[in-house]
Amino acid sequence: MNVFRKGNKELIKDLNRSIVIDLVRLQGNVSRTDIAKVTGLGLSTITNIIEELIKENLVTEVGTGDSHGGRKPVLLKFNGDYGVIVGMKIEKQEVKMCLSNLEGNILHKHQFSYTTKEAMQLTTVIIEQLEGFIKRNESGSKVVGIGIATPGLVDQENNEVVYSPILKMDHGDLKPIGRHFDVPLMIDNDANVFALAEKWIGAGREYRNFIGVTVGAGVGAGIVIDHTLFRGDFGGAGELGHITINQGDRLCYCGQRGCLELYASDPYLVHEAERMVAIGVPTLIDSFHPITPESVVMAAQKGDQYAQELLEKQGENLALGIKNMIHLFNPEAVILGGEGLRENDFLLKGMQKELAVHFFIRHPRKLQFKTSQLGEDVWLIGACALVVSHLFKVPIYK
Ligand SMILES: [Zn+2]
Repeated sequence: MNVFRKGNKELIKDLNRSIVIDLVRLQGNVSRTDIAKVTGLGLSTITNIIEELIKENLVTEVGTGDSHGGRKPVLLKFNGDYGVIVGMKIEKQEVKMCLSNLEGNILHKHQFSYTTKEAMQLTTVIIEQLEGFIKRNESGSKVVGIGIATPGLVDQENNEVVYSPILKMDHGDLKPIGRHFDVPLMIDNDANVFALAEKWIGAGREYRNFIGVTVGAGVGAGIVIDHTLFRGDFGGAGELGHITINQGDRLCYCGQRGCLELYASDPYLVHEAERMVAIGVPTLIDSFHPITPESVVMAAQKGDQYAQELLEKQGENLALGIKNMIHLFNPEAVILGGEGLRENDFLLKGMQKELAVHFFIRHPRKLQFKTSQLGEDVWLIGACALVVSHLFKVPIYK
């Protein structure tokens, strides 16, 4: 349970510091007077806080701005190079990692594959690889934290992957990684991390309320409410893949029947394509062995009508699930991403067809629908965002 700190002078000082640093960090090039205007804090309070932040090298002065009569104001900038963050994504048989500055600029990247045997001691393998990676790219900046994105159900408080069928991981304890490097370790599931990346430097920056949806091996969602990721009780909010869209139908690995993931993920494409081939549908997909999601997209791009219809159907199914979220949360935007997109217009066409009708359609404020522009790096950037939001969080709890 979170225990509140007492409302004494120290807490107020920490709160003000947090407000000031967030403003400088997220807005950039602001003067002390600008900060006073936006926050309503007294100029002397701000001057003291800024002095401290400059001493700590978290904020620097970067020249002067336009004057509206009187002295030109000194502009302040957050020092994004104060330290480096390790961002990591654990995937099936592969781990990707990066070093980034505190503003989400990726400086170096590394990835390695691991075998089924190595999966048993994955944390040991990760520590070894990360140690080498940091050593090779050491530039004097200190590592201030490690953020990790993984598929599956995550226990954030205990840095544990409770259950991930994609990784075949059961109670995977990642704490040793943070302990080894003696820095804060933050983990979260990949859909939450996706939404954080979009909020930090992607399409989600401009929205107060949006939903990030990822499609690939699974289907997931990260819900941002009032500029903040909504995690639910233990980080499980947004399990879009396991809402029921087809009562009494196929059994999902989670134990339920008719989950969205069975109709909208990569395995759906493969399952349906194999079924079509088995019953003798004259589709180009038949020429691919084995059948993969990529082969369905390739066949569709070569003009195969059955592959095109299958991708459109996947899009329609995905949109059905997304519409449920739209009606529950009334977001300004939905941002779509994940390896399952594969730049194929057929899936998007199917989605648009289904999304053309919903209860809010007559409201003048139209729902925005966007695809992520952060590419494959989105997971690493989001993993770094986990650390940044930990470092600069509002300090109201003990
Ligand atoms: Zn399920």
